[in-house]
Amino acid sequence: MNTVFDFDPRLMQAAEAAEQDAAARFAEIDRISQHGTAKVLHALQKNRVSAACFAGANGYGYDDLGRDTLDKVWADVFHTEDALVRHHFVSGTHALSTALFGVLRPGDTLLSVTGSPYDTLEEVIGIRGEGNGSLRDFGVHYAQVDLTAEGRPDFEAMPAAIKGVRVVYLQRSRGYSLRPALTVADIRKIAEITRQVNPDAAIMVDNCYGEFVDYDEPTDAGADLIIGSLIKNPGGGIAQTGGYIAGRKDLVEQCSYRLTCVGMGKEVGCSLTQCREMYLGLFLAPEIVANARKTGEFAASLFRRLGFECLPPAGQTAGDIITVLALRSPEAMEAFCAGIQAGSPVDAYVTPEAWDMPGYESRVIMAAGTFTGGASIELSADGPMREPFAVYLQGGLTYGSGKIGVLKAAQTMLDRKILTL
Ligand SMILES: *Cc1c(COP(=O)(O)O)cnc(C)c1O
Repeated sequence: MNTVFDFDPRLMQAAEAAEQDAAARFAEIDRISQHGTAKVLHALQKNRVSAACFAGANGYGYDDLGRDTLDKVWADVFHTEDALVRHHFVSGTHALSTALFGVLRPGDTLLSVTGSPYDTLEEVIGIRGEGNGSLRDFGVHYAQVDLTAEGRPDFEAMPAAIKGVRVVYLQRSRGYSLRPALTVADIRKIAEITRQVNPDAAIMVDNCYGEFVDYDEPTDAGADLIIGSLIKNPGGGIAQTGGYIAGRKDLVEQCSYRLTCVGMGKEVGCSLTQCREMYLGLFLAPEIVANARKTGEFAASLFRRLGFECLPPAGQTAGDIITVLALRSPEAMEAFCAGIQAGSPVDAYVTPEAWDMPGYESRVIMAAGTFTGGASIELSADGPMREPFAVYLQGGLTYGSGKIGVLKAAQTMLDRKILTL
């Protein structure tokens, strides 16, 4: 590799040591990936997936074999009664919004038990903005149980808050925060609390970035509905667009009425030419997620050796595919992101710059050179230019390319004298 990319020999030594540090974690990541692959392979076989499923359908999409079989495969992988896997979802936020509007009715309360939800949901819920047709405009109330000072779920505060609500909402991933991702064990505990005080509540999980990170999924731990994006984990880097909702049959049906029309639901919405990519992506997903996690684990191990704090710290269990590196200065963030960009397979000649992104208070820098626009299962790094000057690193379709990207980031920091060895 070094005959191609010419990294500093001391950086290569540190990289080798970092890989040795990470060996036990890599082995565990491989075991989880093997289990995920077994679940997917078994579901494909059980549902008799054949070339006919990839042929695609047009028009209304009645009896679309590829679409209907994929829903069944998805339900089997995630151990749910039903699933709605569609390229018609334009993003993860769209799938989440569909689920919220699908299940909630005027007068109901939506309770987030993991603090503030992901930024893009604030307008959907009506925390931000007015008169746009948000849940709030339709008479759906919102309440929240804040995280503890340590960024953990506040289990003690939950029972009182959960009483009487229609939806208990959890976000598994850390998102753009420094709190740790929820583990499946955390989700199980929240589900148990919910069942005790409010058996009728629907437990809804924003599963973005969480799929195939653990042996079990939230639906194995009591969640009624999980929602995610196909240009993240479960699309395996192959799905070109889309999202999914999986869980209890009655709830999935309500969501399908919101996605298409009341009464038509899952019966319509043709798969066009997207089926093969969605199947192949799901098939690859456990391994692709493992590659992304190894890339993150390698980055955490290397940057710990280089003297930086990382979250989760190297060697610790992660609940999602995000690694946060506290780089301590705007210059370091710029150098790191420039290196990630330069290490990308696409748009490697581009230099990322911080910009005033709509909806954010500080300037944001983003590095990504991806085959699929905005796909964060591909190697990418971003972060707001403010204390603690942390970059959020995620993705990496192959470990080999992810590692090179991380080394490029470190090398760029070396070249710019932001770090010394
Ligand atoms: C990505 C993501 C979403 C949805 O984002 P989109 O960009 O709309 O796909 C929601 N929640 C979390 C935690 C996410 O990571």
